[in-house]
Amino acid sequence: MTQNLTDGIYKNLNGSLSFGWATQPKFNAWAESDTVVGGPPQHKIILHYELARLLYRDAENFCSFASNERTKRLIQTTFADHATDLLPECFTLDDCIHNMFLGSLTWVYFHELGHLMQEHGRVRNDGSSAYAITTIQELDAQAAQILNGRQASISHATELAADSEATTLCLIASARHFLKGPLVDDGDGAEVFIGSVYLLTCSLACIFYRFNAGSSPQVVTPITGSHPSPIYRLELSAPHIYELTELLLKASDFDGQRRRLVSMTKQAADLGSFFCNYAQGAGTEKTINLFVKGFLQRPEFKPYSKEILTVWDEIQPSIMASRHFGVELGVLRFTEEFRNFVFSDSSTT
Ligand SMILES: [Zn+2]
Repeated sequence: MTQNLTDGIYKNLNGSLSFGWATQPKFNAWAESDTVVGGPPQHKIILHYELARLLYRDAENFCSFASNERTKRLIQTTFADHATDLLPECFTLDDCIHNMFLGSLTWVYFHELGHLMQEHGRVRNDGSSAYAITTIQELDAQAAQILNGRQASISHATELAADSEATTLCLIASARHFLKGPLVDDGDGAEVFIGSVYLLTCSLACIFYRFNAGSSPQVVTPITGSHPSPIYRLELSAPHIYELTELLLKASDFDGQRRRLVSMTKQAADLGSFFCNYAQGAGTEKTINLFVKGFLQRPEFKPYSKEILTVWDEIQPSIMASRHFGVELGVLRFTEEFRNFVFSDSSTT
């Protein structure tokens, strides 16, 4: 991927992108930029081996959990509207593990790239030297203090912005690979693509909970810390995933299957959360709070969303001015309907 990006986009921009592995045994990834303001992108992405190892273990354990008869019975009795099999039928169990692992590793890589494309380090440094090297750590255990105030809001908003870039890049790459790729027989592309999207959505839950590092998954204000709650990240990612998947299917002359995609994405996100909280962790949250409901059914998220929208509207112009490349659909956006909901008087809802 680094080679492809280097030979294509980065070469055209006279910039450079490098990649490396870190050996410290922790689940982490980071993005480093020493781009000069107005100059070509100078970027570096680092993933820890331990991150790759644990993403693989998560894929294995999740697929074993989802193919287990007890889980199937539990889901059938708990979710009246559960739509599909718990793992895509078009893949063998080994394929599911493999695709889930590669999907999640690719997504994390693209999330780091998302920070770099939009030069988030510069936004977070807020007015420091134009020549400073900036670094964004996904898990910074050595951080001197927990972020709060404006710094925390900017950090959360830019995490969501990097999620948006990552999900868009991942789905486009997946469509290129599966929808009409050489590996897929004519006519099978849509099923295989949809299967890969389902597994990617399950992976996102695992990744978000991993990066939450044992913190409460609840969405709270005032905003503190560097990363948003996994529940919020999933609520925001789910509509992004089914809307873009529908668009990509239609662009390749397949049926959009909107209804199926909506329930499938919800099921994948919920199953992922269920796995992270109960099968893997010692979850104490009420299950109903963990599951994707749609933002309009989440009045309790309004104060948090208000802070995110306010800070995003403020920093978005400068982020767009320094964004080096990327399709428009990669940019974090909020619908008018959502804005009206968030800024409406809560007593009227
Ligand atoms: Zn990040």
